[in-house]
Amino acid sequence: MSCSVPAVASRFARCASAWVKASQSRSNGSEADMKDVQDAKIGIVGAGAMGQGIAQIAAMAGLEVRLMDVNPAASGRAVAAIGSILDKLAAKGKLSSEQAQEALHRIHPEDSIGALSDCDLVVEAIVEKLDVKRSLFAQLEEVVRDDAVLASNTSSLSITAIAATCRLPERVAGYHFFNPVPLMKVVEVVRGLRSSDTTIDWLVSLARQLGHTAVRCRDMPGFIVNHAGRALNTEGLCIVQEGVTDEPTVDVIVREQMGFRMGPFELLDLTGLDVSHPVMESIYRQFYDEPRFRPSPITAIRLAGGMLGRKSGSGFYEYADTSTMSKSICAQGTAQWSTAPVWVSHRHPDEARRVLELLRALDVEVETSSEPSDNALIVVTPLGHDATTCAISEELDATRVVAVDTLLGFGNGSRRVIMPTPATTEEMLTRAQALFGIDGAPVSTLRDSGGFVAQRMIACIVNTACEIAQKRIGTPEDIDAAVRLGLGYPRGPLALGDHIGASRILAVLKGLLDVYGDPRYRPGVWLSRRAELNLSLGFSD
Ligand code: NAD
Repeated sequence: MSCSVPAVASRFARCASAWVKASQSRSNGSEADMKDVQDAKIGIVGAGAMGQGIAQIAAMAGLEVRLMDVNPAASGRAVAAIGSILDKLAAKGKLSSEQAQEALHRIHPEDSIGALSDCDLVVEAIVEKLDVKRSLFAQLEEVVRDDAVLASNTSSLSITAIAATCRLPERVAGYHFFNPVPLMKVVEVVRGLRSSDTTIDWLVSLARQLGHTAVRCRDMPGFIVNHAGRALNTEGLCIVQEGVTDEPTVDVIVREQMGFRMGPFELLDLTGLDVSHPVMESIYRQFYDEPRFRPSPITAIRLAGGMLGRKSGSGFYEYADTSTMSKSICAQGTAQWSTAPVWVSHRHPDEARRVLELLRALDVEVETSSEPSDNALIVVTPLGHDATTCAISEELDATRVVAVDTLLGFGNGSRRVIMPTPATTEEMLTRAQALFGIDGAPVSTLRDSGGFVAQRMIACIVNTACEIAQKRIGTPEDIDAAVRLGLGYPRGPLALGDHIGASRILAVLKGLLDVYGDPRYRPGVWLSRRAELNLSLGFSD
């Protein structure tokens, strides 16, 4: 059956006007919105991991919940699981037993879509397939009121595509929670091309009622969090693929130098490669083979071999007992420092100053001549470049050159990271390991690499977030909040870039581009303009 353009346009106009009328009561001011939100009845379709979590927080926030699953046993199981979580929370004194009982009684397992007819909002958390979700939304539109909001918890599908077959696409939006929902206190409110302001504002208000931070974003692959999260994993894989070091060393540097809770390989093992590898491929393809998101054959081979991570007992680490994570084993130099000449390159004066301050604090005498003496260890401080490029461009003796990563400074006993050129002698490398470990600080030694580990990781994380800001997928504030709460990074990526200095991040990327010639490292215009103009990366024009 075909339809003329005017006929479709007029049907669309009728539907839109029905939605506007039906939702007028909601849009009459923020007080009305809040009242609506407080009394909202929430339907949830899909009682798996996500549906269960959303049901729990909604019931704990005092809302009536109708929980429906195509498999009735799943809703029963979810309610029983919520009951035991609420009991545990009561036992820990987080809420009274009465509150726990009341919350549980607010959740009604249902066995048909028809039972959701009086819901103000239905959140879909079913299987991640576009045709199945579209068919569910069509069924929901048959039963709910015209002013009900329909939301999808999809991680990877387009909200616009889900809404495209709906009668009232204005009331459809993404409501992307994270697992486990009660602990991950952020939700992405995703605006499809046809989502109305009323729908988005109402979902943002509801998130507050649920105790979650709402971040608004445009309908783009990965939204904010899964988009921003590309950098850590794919750059970790690049580093290992290049043979710079092994996975445990990358993880320990990310934790002990960068201050992150987990390294990329620990994270991949936790999520499971059956989930992470297809997501890496999907986001890469959805951005039409953007080199910044390029997946790795390392995870493809491991996935094919069934080494998925914790869930299969074996991943980048072995899990004899699946409840505990294997400890990273990181080789560390044991050489003792005995006084020997040291010279520090001043090619990057600010970076050199960091090394000189450290060495002064460690009571190490440093040569002050403009060139190193014949037997001096030569310390270089590259941003983005490798030790070899420093040796060549500064006309230094490569057999005595060792580079040290200065990007994050040397505070608080954090891990120090060094790398020789391929020509550096064993004696000079051992001297450098002893020098930077004089006070017992842990030292990791890498093979020569553009940007060590931390510089590469941080530059990619900041650059990706800047691109998200440039594409106006979310505001700088929402990008930082989404990443802190959704990925657990210690700082939002734009705030991290400001903390380190946008011009230093830009220098790292230019150095990486110089060494590798890979467009993966090209700096985006958001970053380069703000770095050149000395503006905060959070500054929106
Ligand atoms: P899950 O497999 O744990 O649960 C899905 C549930 O939906 C199952 O109980 C299944 O019986 C039910 N179901 C399937 N088709 C249905 C239908 N047509 N009608 C009613 N019920 C149906 O899945 P999940 O991990 O909870 O994920 C659900 C959604 O949330 C997916 O879109 C996923 O992409 C998204 N998501 C998942 C996570 C995560 O970490 N698990 C995080 C964010 C978003």
